[in-house]
Amino acid sequence: MSNSSFSAFQMAQQQFDQIAEQLNLDRAVKELLRVPMREYQFSIPVRMDDGSVKVFRGFRVQHNDARGPSKGGIRFHPQETIDTVRALAMWMTWKCAVVDIPLGGAKGGVICDPHNLSQREQEAICRGWVRQIARNVGPLSDVPAPDVMTNAQHMLWILDEFETIHGGRFPGFITGKPVGMGGSLGRTEATGYGVVYTLREALGELGIELGNTTASVQGFGNVALYAIRLYQQLGGKVICVSSWDQNDQTSYSFRLGTGIDADALLTITDRFGGIDKAKARKLGYEVLPGEAWLEQNVDILIPAALENQITRASVDKIQKNVRIVVEGANGPTTPEADAILKQRGVFVIPDFLANAGGVTCSYFEQVQSNMNFYWEKAEVLQRLDVKMTSAFHAVHELAAKNKLFMRDAAYIIAISRVAQACRDRGWV
Ligand code: NAD
Repeated sequence: MSNSSFSAFQMAQQQFDQIAEQLNLDRAVKELLRVPMREYQFSIPVRMDDGSVKVFRGFRVQHNDARGPSKGGIRFHPQETIDTVRALAMWMTWKCAVVDIPLGGAKGGVICDPHNLSQREQEAICRGWVRQIARNVGPLSDVPAPDVMTNAQHMLWILDEFETIHGGRFPGFITGKPVGMGGSLGRTEATGYGVVYTLREALGELGIELGNTTASVQGFGNVALYAIRLYQQLGGKVICVSSWDQNDQTSYSFRLGTGIDADALLTITDRFGGIDKAKARKLGYEVLPGEAWLEQNVDILIPAALENQITRASVDKIQKNVRIVVEGANGPTTPEADAILKQRGVFVIPDFLANAGGVTCSYFEQVQSNMNFYWEKAEVLQRLDVKMTSAFHAVHELAAKNKLFMRDAAYIIAISRVAQACRDRGWV
């Protein structure tokens, strides 16, 4: 998405191929799992506020649903591509499997820039998206959710259109709904908190006191914000965050050696997670180039913005003291950079494990929507902690036993589970 020559899907396939070989998967299983089972690409004509009609391009990719209905977000981004959506759909399959929830993997998107769209135009895109795909998604087949630049309001518009088309109430069709309209308490915090639950367990395994650690974070959106909040609540210190500047069309890093104040920063952040650099300077932050978050002398790096950020070109900028990279974003590390982190002995908590808190809570939302009975926030977060902690330890145990990198161990667990479900169903 962020670089035209980079293929996220090729990277996802490369990761899969490596593990398929280690697992000695047979040809048919490999063929089935290395490409999506179904893909939809369609046009969404929208009457704009100025009276003109603009045609947007929409996607939905269902990678695999052997373990249950497909699950995955819908992204709004000007550089969205089918290639990125395919990769993200595949990662969703592994993510649901690694945390052992009974769901498959999907992803969707629309090529658009919400920065330049009114609320009414965004509503029309949401309704148009689901009108094109309403027969191929649903509570028992494919369940969307919010993702980059989409939120609870977008989900509710999509749900409302879906229910109008199908004539009924289907709250289990979509997750990330507003609380009070079928949403789950704790969903907003879930991904960022999940990142920190796995980080806490990793620090425990490495014998490092969380309260003595520092971290640097890429991004200041949903995932980054709640990861920062919980990590700081537990006693850690975040000294740097970065975000995208819509006016300058570039990213900046914001450093405060004494520890950033997430609440203060939030007051100078736009609704897309972009921090105002002039106001940040006034609050005492050093404003540095976008990549500076990666170059900080900290114990922990948390990429929580975009894919393709820790690359062959940037990995050497990571300081020697960095012990853990916990991937809040999807696909932030390229395979070349991954190999170097492996060599250097950096403990990487892979994306599809670290950021699985969101989909796990979405699964809880589905369960609650289907029961029409909603849990207290503390109960949701408690269940989330249990699920993330046990997924982390299953992966860590296998990694320790077979001397594997965490990413490889997580893939082995996830791919084995999905392959087994395909075999059990008699597909291969
Ligand atoms: P978001 O839109 O809320 O925030 C994105 C943040 O990244 C913003 O602060 C933005 O300014 C920043 N950003 C964008 N480009 C940047 C750049 N080049 N350099 C530095 N910062 C940049 O998105 P989010 O929901 O927090 O998602 C972040 C990542 O986490 C994505 O990869 C997403 O797929 C993944 N993810 C999200 C969830 C979820 O529940 N929200 C779940 C799993 C994975």
